[in-house]
Order: sequence, then structure tokens, then C-alpha cells
Amino acid sequence: MQFSPSPLEQHFFRDDTFYIKRDDILNNDFSGNKARKFHYFLTHNFSSIKRIISYGSNQSNAMYSLSVLAKRKHWEFIYFCDHIPNFLRQNPIGNYAYALQNGMKIIETKSRYLDSLQYRRKDSLFIEEGGRQSESEWGIKRLAEELTEDIAKTGIKDPYLFLPSGTGTTALFLQKYLTIPVFTCSCVGDDDYLQKQWKMLSPDLKNAPLILKSSKKYHYGKLYSESYAIWNELQETMGVTFDLMYDPVGWNVLMEHIKTLQGTPIYLHQGGLLGNISMEERYKRKANML
Ligand SMILES: *Cc1c(COP(=O)(O)O)cnc(C)c1O
Repeated sequence: MQFSPSPLEQHFFRDDTFYIKRDDILNNDFSGNKARKFHYFLTHNFSSIKRIISYGSNQSNAMYSLSVLAKRKHWEFIYFCDHIPNFLRQNPIGNYAYALQNGMKIIETKSRYLDSLQYRRKDSLFIEEGGRQSESEWGIKRLAEELTEDIAKTGIKDPYLFLPSGTGTTALFLQKYLTIPVFTCSCVGDDDYLQKQWKMLSPDLKNAPLILKSSKKYHYGKLYSESYAIWNELQETMGVTFDLMYDPVGWNVLMEHIKTLQGTPIYLHQGGLLGNISMEERYKRKANML
């Protein structure tokens, strides 16, 4: 299956022009970023494979996208997770609910990585947390080619790309295939963590993206009033809904640096809006407590 190119749109935010690459609307069934990462598996035949084994958090976009992939391929999908709150079990929402609807079998265990290894057999496809693996390069290369075409067609002067990182896989492979600078920031760990993730994919770390530093330390998945504020402001001024896990951190870090970066920014919208359902509920509960 092939995806049609996602649109590149021009927007204004605060004092600047931004181009937004709308991978959030690339495909209805996949989160944009994960559609790129798992494109390899969608477009190749795996006749000996009967199941997907993976692990990660209980509201992961990768988990949901893998459930879609497994359903299309008529594979079993077994997912290992270190914690499923009782509240979520009784009131499934978001990625968790939709992945279960697609037939995911979820196993709660304190040693999710080791336990997932036990299930690895010749007929299983093992997917690292968040899709940090070499097969992701295939679909991300296609995205880089699209961006290169978009830039030429639109005639953007001195473009640079910004995207917030989890594992950093998307940023690393984009920089490999783009001639324009790629900037990112870390949303999951510190900058050392991001470098370590990159080294697992590309030991010599040639041509790595540039990490923009944040003056504030953000913890992954935590709620911050300035995150919710910029998320709302982006929605009101651009009419674009961003994700609540990565994008608020990304935009706040980008805005800290925007005056010192030369050229025209392109922001990669990586989707993930299904994950917003549970995040918005948490933000609303937090607001009620204040
Ligand atoms: C998975 C994901 C990311 C992080 O991608 P990495 O390649 O792991 O850096 C960012 N944004 C969204 C919406 C995602 O789903």
C-alpha cells in the first residue's frame, strides 16, 4: 500500500511564517510518524510471519499503529506493557481502546522487554519500542523525498526542518536523506539519551540532527500548564490540532530559539492525535483540581 504525499501548508504563528508538513493527515488509520516507520512492513511480503511482538507504554501511538498493521496482515499482535492502570482497564480510551478493538493481546509484566523476547520465534516479527529500528529508514526516506519536492515546488528560501523527538529515529533518518539542516529536541529523556538512541541506529553518528536545548526540563508524559497553553494557542491561530505529548514541548523549544535560527522553518506534524484523547482528559482533571 502506498500513501499519497501529505500536504505542506503555510501558516503564521506569533511573528513568523512556518511551513507545516501535515503528516497527521497522511492516513486515517495510522499515526503519521508511525505510518512512515512501518511503511516497510506494509509494502513488503512476509509469508512466514504470523505475529507481531512489541512492547512499550499503554497509550503508545506505535502500539495502535501496529494493531492496524497486524489486522491488515491477518497477524496476531502481542504487546508487553509494564503497567495498565485499573481505571484504564475498566474504561478503555484512546490508543489502548482502539488497539484492543483491532485484536491486540496485551500482557502486563514488570519485565516487558525480557518477557517479550521469550515470545520471539521464527514466525514473529519483533518491533522495538517506538519503532526504533533499521526498517523505519525505508518510509522515512520517502518522507525526505517528499519534503525535497515540496521545498522545490513551493520555492522556500533557506529552509530548515524542525521536529520533536522521542527515540529520534525519524529525525536521524530524515537528516540522512535531506540536504537542509534538521533540528530537533528531546521529549523523552535528556540530550544524552537521544544521542544514545542514535548510536544504536548509526554507530558513527555522522550527519546527526542538531539538538536544540530547552531552558526547562520536561518529563515525558507529564502535564505542564505552558504545554497546554501553547497547544491551545497553536490550534486557535493556525486551526491545526497538534499532539499533546511531543508537539507542545517541540513548539516551546522551537520558539525559544526561533530568533537565532537562520532561514525559513518547516515544522513536521507527526500525527498522534488518537493519543490526545487520554491526554486531554488528564489536562481537564488537572484543571478541576486547581
Ligand atoms: C512516535 C512519535 C514521535 C517520536 O518519533 P521518534 O522517531 O521516536 O523520535 C513524535 N511525535 C509523534 C506524534 C509520535 O507518534
